[in-house]
Amino acid sequence: MKNSDRMIRDRKMVEKAIARLTDGVMLDLVRRAGTRAVADATGQRGPRSKGSYSDPTAAAVIRRESAAVADPIFDAVRDISRLLDEMARMSMKLDDLVRFVQTGKERAREATTERCKSCDRIVECTPADRLRSGQCMACYQAQRRAKTQEK
Ligand SMILES: [Zn+2]
Repeated sequence: MKNSDRMIRDRKMVEKAIARLTDGVMLDLVRRAGTRAVADATGQRGPRSKGSYSDPTAAAVIRRESAAVADPIFDAVRDISRLLDEMARMSMKLDDLVRFVQTGKERAREATTERCKSCDRIVECTPADRLRSGQCMACYQAQRRAKTQEK
C-alpha cells in the first residue's frame, strides 16, 4: 500500500467516526451518562439531587448499592470525551505540520523562538530580537552593566 493510500484510508476512518458524532448524538451521550453519573458519584459524595432521598436509611441503602454498581455508560462517555479532547489537540498539531510542509511557516518559527532565562519573555531569535547567553537583549545588557559596575 502506498503511503498516500494509507494516509487517505486513515483520514477516512477518522472522518467516519467523527461524522457520526453530531451535536444531537453528543447531547444524547452526555444525557445518558448524566443520569448514571449521579449513581456513580453517590459512593463518595452522597446522593446528589437526583430525586430527593429524605429518608436517611433509604439514602444509605441507595448509596451502598450504587457504590457497588459499575457504571459502564458513564465510563464510556468519559472515555469518549477524553479521546475527543486528545483528537482536538492532535488536529491542531496536524494542522500545524501540514501548514509547515505547504508554506514553510509556523514550524520554523516555533523552532527558533526561545524563552529568556531571566524574564521568561519569548525571544524571536531574529537580528532585531536576539538571544544572548540564553537571555533577551534587555536582560543581557542589564547583566553586563551590572558586571562592569562591580569591577
Ligand atoms: Zn529577558
